[in-house]
Amino acid sequence: MKAKLDHIVHENRDKTISSFWFETDQALDYIAGQFIEMTIHHPKTDDRGDKRWFTISSSPTNAPLMSITTKFSEESSSFKQTLQGLREGDEVIISDPMGDFVLPKDKSIPLIFVAGGIGITPYHSIIKWLSDTKQSRDINLIYAANSIGELVFLEQFEHYGLSLQLILNNPPANWEGETGYLSGQRIIDLTNPPRDSLIYASGPEKMVESLQSSLETLGMEKYRLVGDFFPGYSTI
Ligand SMILES: Cc1cc2nc3c(=O)[nH]c(=O)nc-3n(C[C@H](O)[C@H](O)[C@H](O)COP(=O)(O)OP(=O)(O)OC[C@H]3O[C@@H](n4cnc5c(N)ncnc54)[C@H](O)[C@@H]3O)c2cc1C
Repeated sequence: MKAKLDHIVHENRDKTISSFWFETDQALDYIAGQFIEMTIHHPKTDDRGDKRWFTISSSPTNAPLMSITTKFSEESSSFKQTLQGLREGDEVIISDPMGDFVLPKDKSIPLIFVAGGIGITPYHSIIKWLSDTKQSRDINLIYAANSIGELVFLEQFEHYGLSLQLILNNPPANWEGETGYLSGQRIIDLTNPPRDSLIYASGPEKMVESLQSSLETLGMEKYRLVGDFFPGYSTI
């Protein structure tokens, strides 16, 4: 279906993380946490092509608008450069939403959400939806980023009132929170996961794979691990 750019929101001060808000030409039926494939035809397409997967970062309650949120590198692909240059009213093509990185039906299950960098997008969608529909769930969010300037959506998370733990690779001098990197042991130490909890992990492919395998090695049952990985990013 076609989606027309409505507006862009820069989510951090240096504008490296931005949300692109679109209006679709048909109603977009999705569950918070799902993703779409976006196609932007453009001249001089590099070898990465003209299609990308993006989690929908908005909530179904934002209809008729929907958003995706992405990070821009110093040397962006031709796709990202074109996305960055879109003007209001410009059209892209998006697929039907898909994916099962969504909330469990059983509302009593405690949830541990782990995000690496831009892997925060599905949690924003889910938490905005829970907040707008006034639903309460037991959520512990661990959010790791390179620097304080790359943490986004914090107001939304604080507004919802979940347990939030931030980890920075490169913290500022006055940082009192957690530092360093994510690991399976770190997740266990920070959350002491209840026996019936589910652990969701979202971020760069290698990070999610290594967290899941280390949690399994530490005795976590496979069915309790839910992963969403973003290829194309080598680090958070
Ligand atoms: C289910 C799913 C959901 C996803 N959700 C999101 C999401 O919500 N937000 C999001 O941002 N991404 C998401 N992704 C990942 C997304 O599809 C892209 O792969 C990612 O954003 C990287 O984009 P890019 O390839 O345009 O590279 P860029 O973002 O432009 O660059 C990423 C890195 O690759 C380098 N690079 C750029 N071009 C080249 C090249 N031609 N050759 C070699 N290196 C290059 C850059 O210097 C940079 O270090 C998701 C992926 C999946 C599968």
